Amino acid sequence: MAAYEYETHDYDVVVVGAGGAGLRATLGMAEQGLRTACVTKVFPTRSHTVAAQGGIAASLGNMGPDSWQWHMYDTVKGSDWLGDTDAMEYLAREAPKAVYELEHYGVPFSRTEEGRIYQRPFGGHTTEFGEGPPVQRTCAAADRTGHAILHTLYGQSLKNNAEFYIEYFAIDLMMSEDGQCTGVVCWKLDDGTIHVFNSKMVVLATGGYGRAYFSATSAHTCTGDGGGMVARAGLPLQDMEFVQFHPTGIYGSGCLITEGARGEGGYLTNSEGERFMERYAPNYKDLAPRDYVSRSMTMEIREGRGVGEHGDHIHLNLSHLPAEALNLRLPGISESAKIFAGVDVTKEPIPVLPTVHYNMGGIPTNYWGEVLNPSKDDPHAVVPGLMAVGEAGCASVHGANRLGSNSLIDLVVFGRAAAIRAGKVVNPETAVPATDTGQVDKALDRFDHFRHADGGTPTAELRLEMQRTMQEDAAVFRTSKTLSEGVKKMDAIAAKLDDLKVTDRSLVWNSDLMETLELTNLMPNALATIAGAEARKESRGAHAHEDFAKRDDENWRVHTVARVDGKSVDLSYRPIIEDPLTTESEGGINLKKIAPKERTF
Ligand SMILES: Cc1cc2nc3c(=O)[nH]c(=O)nc-3n(C[C@H](O)[C@H](O)[C@H](O)COP(=O)(O)OP(=O)(O)OC[C@H]3O[C@@H](n4cnc5c(N)ncnc54)[C@H](O)[C@@H]3O)c2cc1C
Repeated sequence: MAAYEYETHDYDVVVVGAGGAGLRATLGMAEQGLRTACVTKVFPTRSHTVAAQGGIAASLGNMGPDSWQWHMYDTVKGSDWLGDTDAMEYLAREAPKAVYELEHYGVPFSRTEEGRIYQRPFGGHTTEFGEGPPVQRTCAAADRTGHAILHTLYGQSLKNNAEFYIEYFAIDLMMSEDGQCTGVVCWKLDDGTIHVFNSKMVVLATGGYGRAYFSATSAHTCTGDGGGMVARAGLPLQDMEFVQFHPTGIYGSGCLITEGARGEGGYLTNSEGERFMERYAPNYKDLAPRDYVSRSMTMEIREGRGVGEHGDHIHLNLSHLPAEALNLRLPGISESAKIFAGVDVTKEPIPVLPTVHYNMGGIPTNYWGEVLNPSKDDPHAVVPGLMAVGEAGCASVHGANRLGSNSLIDLVVFGRAAAIRAGKVVNPETAVPATDTGQVDKALDRFDHFRHADGGTPTAELRLEMQRTMQEDAAVFRTSKTLSEGVKKMDAIAAKLDDLKVTDRSLVWNSDLMETLELTNLMPNALATIAGAEARKESRGAHAHEDFAKRDDENWRVHTVARVDGKSVDLSYRPIIEDPLTTESEGGINLKKIAPKERTF
């Protein structure tokens, strides 16, 4: 057994992650007087949320008529009828409240002439239950909305005496024999010490796993660590086959150009200079949802109408927009286009390509953020002591496809919901669970194993192999052939985790070891993704299966539940939640409005 000394810390709540979701949860917990620690592997304001550009959706109605029922309808349709209806209602209904809270906390939103929060159009957000014109629902702080939110929430959390453990890497959860989470084991990156956090509640807010793919808009730190920890604890992941490709990653670098660029009037063209989205989505054109636009772009390229020397990408045009508007509303992306594509957006189009952007799937939760461990008898069984929020979780509000600007709102609505729930289920008077030494030893044995790994495969090499395979075989379009080949390849790649080579044996700033632990987290996420995709014999949202081109509600309107043990993936299914929180007579949505139908734009 590995011998490591460790320091213990006792808290009511430990939040792992300091992105938008983790900080909103931390703040809400601390405001209620719960003793709260936030553990994060990067400095809070460097979390990937800082890169969110376009904005945060809420039906404030500042720019024209809007309602939460319309927002809910768009979210249901956007999800391609795979989201949980109660959670989607909660999101749309609570969104305005959550945004006004952010405003009062101090987020510097852009303003209208009258001084109200400025809102821009975003894909898939409409009026009149999809019958009316696009709506301006996305609240923005220029094109740096995530940056503004993150800085504000960090400041507010400090003000409320939340305690931060910065550059601490969470290795594994501690789970009691009766299935309760009792804390988390961490490694302090800058001095190599080990820290055990005992707590009554652990909140996983570790973000997405975009880095399972070769080309992604997400930060290199988005390695699905929460999903990895959950899988090792024997708990499932949900709907992992739904991976969002953003239509406009900069060709080559993958760096994001926000959908806000099309919201502000930008449009896509092919090699013939044609605005092809008019053919695919006659009503909403360039503002159709992301899965739709990404597929249309891929079709254009496949049919020989891509731009550039190799005909392998598409143009995004902004040069017709007034320079002042670009400067005021889209300063950040003008700069990104210059740096990463060498393009002056006032004169030339930006070369773009669909790029992995968001994970709809994640750790299954109810709309309070409580983690679920579904069984046949109880598809909604809660894991005591464990919550998941933000991109790491799956509540599920995005179903098979997320609408742009619906993630930032998901972070704050469900970060807040988790805090409200914790205020009810966590009793500050009771004792914190004692250190579970057996669980600590187990986590540290695994840590020590990788620290001394001396096989033949360097971490960077295996990671690249995984990323290329996922990029090729679990792409925008999928076929039975690519998927079954992909599953086999990923099986072989995962087996090579036993042959890893770590060269640095130290404990201080050992990035080789940290990236190795991250790879062991990415792997179960990737395996669940490709296995879930291979099994799902239909097309829905971001899962476009060429051999099963239609959505099949009769057989497949179900959540995929994936349990990953080593390299084996066990799949089962659980029903989606069809009932909203309130009936029409209570002021809720008319159920007929959200009944499944063909999804056109
Ligand atoms: C470029 C880009 C632009 C986007 N723009 C928008 C937008 O305009 N609107 C919108 O709605 N959505 C947008 N999204 C999506 C949205 O920003 C993300 O889904 C969201 O920010 C994720 O937030 P999070 O809090 O879940 O996680 P993150 O912000 O990714 O934070 C994860 C946190 O977990 C911590 N962590 C992870 N693993 C560990 C570990 N093992 N130990 C300790 N700490 C750990 C990290 O340190 C970090 O603090 C964008 C995404 C990208 C990539």
